[in-house]
Amino acid sequence: MITLDKQRRKKLQAVVDKDYSYRSYYDDDVEVRATGKCGYGVFAARQFLPGELVMEVTGQLISKKGYEGSEYVMDLDTKWYLEPSTPGAFMNHSCSPNCELIQLTKTSLGVVAICNIEADTQLTFDYAWEAFDWNPRCQCGARNCRGWVVAEDEVKKMKRLAKNRKKKPR
Ligand SMILES: [Zn+2]
Repeated sequence: MITLDKQRRKKLQAVVDKDYSYRSYYDDDVEVRATGKCGYGVFAARQFLPGELVMEVTGQLISKKGYEGSEYVMDLDTKWYLEPSTPGAFMNHSCSPNCELIQLTKTSLGVVAICNIEADTQLTFDYAWEAFDWNPRCQCGARNCRGWVVAEDEVKKMKRLAKNRKKKPR
């Protein structure tokens, strides 16, 4: 078996980290860090002003036909989902978000600040998911938190689903 010497391993690991790891994302404007309660999240490394482009979200394009999407998948347009790569994949939902997503190019989304964002603040957007049986409880902590990770106009439906879920025997 071929073994790597320490120095070469370190060098190669840096290459791997750059592509795969949230530990060393190359864009200095944002950082992926542990949030403490919601796994990893993306944080501002500097101040962003309202309307400012925070980052570009790129990733794998998947046809909407026959694909239900993963937990992280984002809507690109009517035909395509964008399965985001790091750091976009780590952006958490908030019912009171400080960013929104817009289509930036044919193949990418832009995260745009919708208010003043101080450095070290977690960057969030409204996932606005449809209500389904599996939607998780929201832990965003906003005063207007909807209780689940769903779109505002889906809350009623979600409450109904959750009620039925409780009744179901396990
Ligand atoms: Zn919430």
